[in-house]
Amino acid sequence: SVPLSFFGGIGGASRLGILVKGSNYLEALSRVDTVVFDKTGTLTSGTFNVVAIHPEESIDPDYLLDLAAHAEAFSDHPIAVSVKAAYSGKIDQARVDKVTEESGHGVSARVDEHVVMVGNDKLMAAHGSSWHDCELTGTILHVSVDGRYIGHIVIADVVKDDAKQAVRDLHAAGVERCIMLTGDREDVAAAVAKQLGLDEYHAQLLPGDKVERVEQIMDGVRDNLAFVGDGINDAPVLTRADVGIAMGAMGSDAAIEAADIVLMDDKPSNIARAISVARKTMAIVW
Ligand code: ADP
Ligand code: MG
Repeated sequence: SVPLSFFGGIGGASRLGILVKGSNYLEALSRVDTVVFDKTGTLTSGTFNVVAIHPEESIDPDYLLDLAAHAEAFSDHPIAVSVKAAYSGKIDQARVDKVTEESGHGVSARVDEHVVMVGNDKLMAAHGSSWHDCELTGTILHVSVDGRYIGHIVIADVVKDDAKQAVRDLHAAGVERCIMLTGDREDVAAAVAKQLGLDEYHAQLLPGDKVERVEQIMDGVRDNLAFVGDGINDAPVLTRADVGIAMGAMGSDAAIEAADIVLMDDKPSNIARAISVARKTMAIVW
């Protein structure tokens, strides 16, 4: 049987927009000492702004953005949504077919009968295309057409309003380590980690690498590890963690499904609140 106060705890949490899928997760949450965050959409808003367009010589920047936006036509990745928002024209889906989304890499699509690739260094390397480095800090979207590099787009995301406070509150609640995982570049990860006061970060991870990395971190955790994510790719990690927490408002159905706890308003500061509710509930139960 489940002690009555568990329902009080779950009800109290739900009034704060924190949905707990079972009383056992309150117990697990009360003993969390490590919180691992996915970056994009969890600590950052997931809405990227185009910072710069760097075409190769003789390439028109509008042409570069047009091809990138069309290659992303059928993707709902936060990066794809942002590139399409930056494109002033109307996306013509009839120009696009043969789309392949390569998770943690980017997309490949046929646009106007040309093979267009949009993604990171890993995508270019995997398809034998060269690229030029970029001196700006940001997420870099390289673009190639029929294997020929035509330049890159630099985009940047902003950290959520309450992300820094969220890390501070977790530390104040006795959480020993706040860690960020991301598939993004080292320099972007370092800047976000510094800005938020995170204890640790791991960059350039493929979605599959994240499960492995969380398992390695779990080996060194005394009590419980919570993972917080929002994307389709986060589902395996949400399942693997002692406590999986999904962002509910913008999060993917797969992440919400896989999670033990869902934050309805996508605010990372609600994690410390959830831990506090969980501890109070346990104090009443025992
Ligand atoms: P995160 O770890 O920040 O949640 P993802 O694992 O979703 O990010 O993606 C990691 C990296 O893969 C991105 O930073 C980007 O370089 C590349 N990428 C993924 N999806 C796309 C896309 N649709 N278009 C371009 N690049 C992408
Ligand atoms: Mg993600």
